[in-house]
Amino acid sequence: MASYETEHARDEPRTDRPRRPDYSSLYNLISEIQPSEDRNREHAVPVPGDVSAAYRHLADAFRSMQQDNDNDSVNSDLLQTMISNLLTTAEHPPTEIKGVDEEYIADLERVPIKKMKSDADCPICGNEFREDPYPLLVRLPCHESHVFDLECIRPWLLLNGTCPLDRVDLAKKERERKKKRLEEIKKNQQVDDEEEEWDGMYA
Ligand SMILES: [Zn+2]
Ligand SMILES: [Zn+2]
Repeated sequence: MASYETEHARDEPRTDRPRRPDYSSLYNLISEIQPSEDRNREHAVPVPGDVSAAYRHLADAFRSMQQDNDNDSVNSDLLQTMISNLLTTAEHPPTEIKGVDEEYIADLERVPIKKMKSDADCPICGNEFREDPYPLLVRLPCHESHVFDLECIRPWLLLNGTCPLDRVDLAKKERERKKKRLEEIKKNQQVDDEEEEWDGMYA
């Protein structure tokens, strides 16, 4: 039986495997501007400049990946569309980020690499899943063939909440649920305020 090392040694060296960008500063930025239920009173609307910066940040990261990935023409159209989309959104930033939250990402279906065809690749970065020594794949609920590197789809979903392949709006349901929740909180708050006023009159 081949050990893990010998099995992977066959693929080495693979200097042409594109690097993926480091998204950690983007995640920090997103966590600062993402709407959150527990601070809806004071920071409900993020600064438009911050929202723009987040979209531009991801566009830049994708662009650097695209340049590294030059020889893989199959996926460049999709990546190009995603980049244009991000830049357009950066120009006209929404009042809030329309993406899903980390909880949603954490709940996405994980796909074992063994279940994938040997030449299957990530639609975003174009890397064959098997070239990754530590593949971490997720399937979006829109279609069973819509499988991505978690690392590639996560920043996109946090900002856009849509499947890049069929544009199904995965965040919409999530958004509606949260909106309802916020409205309920606001309503309760209003009732509290009114009660306080009432108390004040007779103090
Ligand atoms: Zn990828
Ligand atoms: Zn899809």
